[in-house]
Amino acid sequence: MRRRFIVHVDIDAFFAAVEVLLNPSLEGQPVIVGGLPHERGVVSTASYEARRFGVHSGLPLRKAYQLCPQGIFLRGNYQLYRAFSEKFFSLLSSFTPDVEAASLDEAYLDLTRCRPLYPSFSRTVRQLKEKVEKELGLRVSVGVGPNKLLAKLATHQAKPGGLVEIPPGKESVFLQQLPVGCLPGVGPKAQAMLNLLGVKRVGDLWSFPRSTLRSLFGLNGDELYLQVRGIDARAVEPVRAPQSFSRETTFLEDIWDEQLLLAHLAYLSDRLALTLREEKLFAHLIEVKIRYADFRTVSRRRRLTMPLQTMGEIYRVAQDLFLSLFDSPRLALRLVGVKAAELTASRPLALFEPFLEREERLSRAVAEVRRKYGFAAVLTVRERLLERCYPLEQRRGFVLKTASLTK
Ligand SMILES: [Mg+2]
Repeated sequence: MRRRFIVHVDIDAFFAAVEVLLNPSLEGQPVIVGGLPHERGVVSTASYEARRFGVHSGLPLRKAYQLCPQGIFLRGNYQLYRAFSEKFFSLLSSFTPDVEAASLDEAYLDLTRCRPLYPSFSRTVRQLKEKVEKELGLRVSVGVGPNKLLAKLATHQAKPGGLVEIPPGKESVFLQQLPVGCLPGVGPKAQAMLNLLGVKRVGDLWSFPRSTLRSLFGLNGDELYLQVRGIDARAVEPVRAPQSFSRETTFLEDIWDEQLLLAHLAYLSDRLALTLREEKLFAHLIEVKIRYADFRTVSRRRRLTMPLQTMGEIYRVAQDLFLSLFDSPRLALRLVGVKAAELTASRPLALFEPFLEREERLSRAVAEVRRKYGFAAVLTVRERLLERCYPLEQRRGFVLKTASLTK
């Protein structure tokens, strides 16, 4: 097979780095983005200074505060980060059209097609890194390899702020010395199990037959067998349509009240409906997720023959699913979420649906008013209840965090 040239680019400590860029007095400080110390969410990004205290993404904020009480905790401004992200991708697109967004701040570039255009491939990658850093004002780490797996592992080695290019022919040497936990298929549990078997580095797995890996890890064993050999045939896929949209809320205090929970659900369904409308997509599948106060998480989904988009439709399905899940109100909830998946761009015309047509007209009108005057310009009865308990300004971010509901 023809050798490919894959470049992986990742912004270092993205959200925290944007905050520092816009407020230079934060330079060198342990910046923690995600919420305030007493809030119940998790850390989205920690600056390298904060990471020295053991703070990392996904860590509960309270825990982060215990580890790093001198940290500068910020709620974050996701619209701002999105704007930086868009600029990041448009800069990368000036090098090649073959750019895949792996997340807001992480991209794969396939430079195989463009390579003949550049006299020196390595110099081109260096220039790419310099250009992105200069125009964006943020530091990035870059990895180069023959596939996505190796390019990403190279970036990992390059962090923070470096560039690692795996020279052709040296892939195996590079891979073997890495700790086995670096492989994407090896989580903390698998790592502990492998350590018990005396496996510390990727190279220690080399002698394991495929059948052994399969008996240890099931079907993931096959994947692991290939990863150990640095094999990854996944293509860099430039445009990826969204697979699903979801909205969820972690409450600041657990909620027992069913009406209030349904009000939250209505609000999340409405936000989801607005997103679907903006993206001109319909959902074939609706899923509701709830997390009890003891962290037990359950979800239920329904596949629909007729795909949905309007707020009323989504809420009716979500409410049904919610009530079937929340049948034992012995425990309060700490999280509610709604997801729309199996998205499609069109909906088959129904012959006789006067009710749905009315709903579509209503939904369109509400979306229009909200686009012009803000979300709170029109509120349903349930949303008014929610608004009284806790106002809209306090529901922010991708993962919406809510304020106290006990007032
Ligand atoms: Mg990053």
